[in-house]
Amino acid sequence: MSKILIVEDEEAIADLEKDYLELSGFEVEIENRGDTGLNKALNEEFDLLILDLMLPEVDGFEICRQVREKKNMPIIMVSAKKDDIDKIRGLGLGADDYITKPFSPSEMVARVKAHLARYDRLIGSGQKVNDVVEIRGIKIDKTARRVWVNGEEKQFTTKEFDLLTFLAENPNRVFTKEELFREIWDMESIGDIATVTVHIKKIREKIEFNTAKPQYIETIWGVGYRFKA
Ligand code: CA
Repeated sequence: MSKILIVEDEEAIADLEKDYLELSGFEVEIENRGDTGLNKALNEEFDLLILDLMLPEVDGFEICRQVREKKNMPIIMVSAKKDDIDKIRGLGLGADDYITKPFSPSEMVARVKAHLARYDRLIGSGQKVNDVVEIRGIKIDKTARRVWVNGEEKQFTTKEFDLLTFLAENPNRVFTKEELFREIWDMESIGDIATVTVHIKKIREKIEFNTAKPQYIETIWGVGYRFKA
């Protein structure tokens, strides 16, 4: 079941949206303030965000910007003013859709469904289809043990391939170096957790546009690594 977060300070509108979305089988949570909404959007898992523009504490512009930096989910922005919608389009904050109030709730539900379906198609959810894992431009064919980055095939050693595949199949989870070492190398292997660091570095050189600012495998300082989906 897809989970949706509504950040909206007008309670009647938020409740209306929630009712319609729940009738369509979605799980829905509401935040009435910008700061709490931003916090929830960043720290909990949702499949889609419906975001009002004018909000107490932190406005929808700022929420959209911050969520877009860290999360890969559709954002539908809602505003009472057509002018504001034009403005946010112009800013290129990365919202996926814009709806002007008042709107028909069934139209909103239709758009929510369309965006969720599109994200599933475009990004994939890390789920295996015919033993292929696809996440944001990276395609891993587990059967053929081949990897493409933005359509270009890259060569990986056996362990690099195993490590990349393991991380990509478990996105958004942090693993310690010890856990990764145990997972990928068998117990008799010569080596230690520094081996993991070396392999992560090699993998990054092949998949990251800028290894100083990794977009896929993030370092969680003092803990380990996480593949960002
Ligand atoms: Ca508002």
